[in-house]
Amino acid sequence: LLHAKGIKRNYGALEVLKGIDLEIGAGEIVAIVGPSGAGKSTLLQILGTLDKPDGGEVWIEDLSVFNLKDQELAKFRNEKVGFIFQFHNLLAEFTALENVCMPGYIQGSKPEKEIVARATELLGLLGLSERMGNLPSQLSGGEQQRVAVARALLNSPAIIFADEPSGNLDSQNALDLHRLFFQLRDEFGHSFVIVTHNEELAEMADRRLVMQDGLMS
Ligand code: ATP
Ligand code: MG
Repeated sequence: LLHAKGIKRNYGALEVLKGIDLEIGAGEIVAIVGPSGAGKSTLLQILGTLDKPDGGEVWIEDLSVFNLKDQELAKFRNEKVGFIFQFHNLLAEFTALENVCMPGYIQGSKPEKEIVARATELLGLLGLSERMGNLPSQLSGGEQQRVAVARALLNSPAIIFADEPSGNLDSQNALDLHRLFFQLRDEFGHSFVIVTHNEELAEMADRRLVMQDGLMS
């Protein structure tokens, strides 16, 4: 599903990624672990097409993504890729339901009714039917993170990138979130690439990759 070859990224004189090769299969859950500063977040941003590499190439569904024009890439990303971050990044002035709908409005091609129906269905699936009208500040940390998961799923992306998604949760909420990833994979076939410091999650994953000093082993 995803294929990366020779990914390099520099910040000035600092070589953060020194040539990373990676393959992610459809429906695979891959954990990336490694020390702080190893380049994990930098790699995830590039794989998710949010940042461009200084060298190397990324293919998603056989499409060389960085050869797309900016506008085409933005459309591709919105349709194919989902993101979950450590801090949920929900918009504070919008309700849970409105936050989940957001990627649908950005895409701009689906009717509003359809988007709201899909968001409502997803929030129900994640056990948040009673919380749809709440603002992020009116939700618990675990609930906020589940809203972020629902938002990532709205456009049914093929692949979801998560950067320390449970880094801000207590151990029970973290475990629930991790189980949710596997449940979603089993039901819908999404691939997940998850950067984590959580060893339990890394052990559960189909593959555990270690990044160190800009290289993957
Ligand atoms: P952590 O586990 O702490 O999140 P990480 O593996 O995600 O670490 P990155 O965030 O990818 O690490 O950062 C890798 C290196 O690149 C670090 O040394 C960091 O200081 C540097 N770096 C990251 N982003 C930038 C930037 N925008 N400009 C300059 N240097 C950066
Ligand atoms: Mg990081």
